[in-house]
Amino acid sequence: MENKQSDLHAEVLVLGGGPGGYTAAFRAADLGKQVTLIERYPVLGGVCLNVGCIPSKALLHLARVIHESEEVSEFGVEFGPPKLDTGKIVQWKEQVTGTLTKGLSGLARQRKVKVVTGLGKFVSERILEVVGSEGTQRVSFDHAIIAAGSRATKIVSFPNDDPRVMDSTDALNLDEIPKRLLVIGGGIIGLELATVYHALGSRITIVELMEQIIPGCDQDLVRPLYQRIRKQYEHIYLSTRVTEIKALKNGLKVAFQGQGVPESETFDRVLVAVGRRPNGHLIGADAAGIKVDEAGFIPVDDRQRSNVNHIYAIGDIVGNPMLAHKATHEGKVAAEVIAGLPSAFQALTIPSVAYTDPEVAWMGISEQEAKEKGLEFEKASFPWAASGRSLSIGRNEGLTKILCDKTTGRLLGAGMVGTNAGELIAEAVLALEMGADAQDIGLTIHPHPTLSETLGFAAEMIEGSITDLIVKKRMN
Ligand code: NAD
Repeated sequence: MENKQSDLHAEVLVLGGGPGGYTAAFRAADLGKQVTLIERYPVLGGVCLNVGCIPSKALLHLARVIHESEEVSEFGVEFGPPKLDTGKIVQWKEQVTGTLTKGLSGLARQRKVKVVTGLGKFVSERILEVVGSEGTQRVSFDHAIIAAGSRATKIVSFPNDDPRVMDSTDALNLDEIPKRLLVIGGGIIGLELATVYHALGSRITIVELMEQIIPGCDQDLVRPLYQRIRKQYEHIYLSTRVTEIKALKNGLKVAFQGQGVPESETFDRVLVAVGRRPNGHLIGADAAGIKVDEAGFIPVDDRQRSNVNHIYAIGDIVGNPMLAHKATHEGKVAAEVIAGLPSAFQALTIPSVAYTDPEVAWMGISEQEAKEKGLEFEKASFPWAASGRSLSIGRNEGLTKILCDKTTGRLLGAGMVGTNAGELIAEAVLALEMGADAQDIGLTIHPHPTLSETLGFAAEMIEGSITDLIVKKRMN
């Protein structure tokens, strides 16, 4: 195999054209490398851009407009019920992703990154075989960066071939707005898509295996979201398992196992959003001698190097959290290390955002983790009910919570729940990376009136200098 001549040679081969892969390819090209990028689909952007982050945000924007137009009736502005043209909605969503994917191919062209379309598999530690619509090509490489991502976890006992059983990609197509939708999995994907379908008129039930939605996220941050959607949705079944889905003519009969939940219920559609699995076992890793763990992750060091010296891996395929912004940073590290720069992945935190309504965003250490680690910390939660900006957009359920080291005052973790929380968390990430303490944040002048002020107020609560509330003593 090894001796068979290749059709192409790359100084740097990148397998996978998602956010991690195209970032790695572009950075390597900018650093003077001759790069070939292998992508199985005819457009770049991967799951995030084509069937994930971006199209879901486009639909979530519509959900927000629909909800806000309903809610302002309380404030004296009445709109009629929305008229939905799902064909046009899908067209618009595709226009958004199309603009971005076109932009990416332009960026690749300008950098002279060669894009090869087809499914890539290693056949040796120096050659990748690409099977595309125009036949099979072999690409030899000096260095490779694996950015082959992850796929939705399927539950094999479910009738997955029935179009009424959807994964997130199917759900984004809006083939039908079901009367009753069951969302299996109360994680980020399930909750974001529930937000969309609820706004478009579906009655929603969520079933979550653990005792809270978004397991692992601070309970204080999840609570305002839970309380709002509990009123909007038909049911939220926690600590509950789906044991069976029967595909009947008149619907999907779903059996539940949990406390105080019905034995079964019938839904028009089911969305399965129970996590994603890395694609490590699908890329011929054995042929290249690349170590892949049982789950399908490729272990790497802080320079993104796998056990094979010249082969690197980044993004979902190297571990959790499976987030585009982690992948892009790892992609830059891999490209820079290959180009001989002294780079390493040394981020202190990777922020998370659920683009629900309200949004939930968090970074750094959570209160639970701080307790488990025995850290001495001070915490403060600023309620958005005391934020003029929040009240003036008709919302009062948000909060901004921060945790600081008791001795040094340094920020350890922060989270927000509320409108645009996902935009606000970046300030906390920067503060953590810069080693800021509560005083630094409190003395930073935040523009008024903004939601961003709430981080400053939370820091002032730790400092004891807050004047917008009288709560310092009660917070401890
Ligand atoms: P997830 O792991 O975040 O959530 C899956 C949820 O399903 C968990 O709460 C889990 O307890 C539950 N679950 C698992 N098996 C179940 C079962 N049999 N019955 C009921 N509940 C069950 O996964 P996801 O929401 O599918 O997202 C996948 C990945 O994509 C995650 O890493 C996520 O962070 C990422 N993602 C991020 C964003 C974002 O940043 N906004 C958006 C979408 C996806």
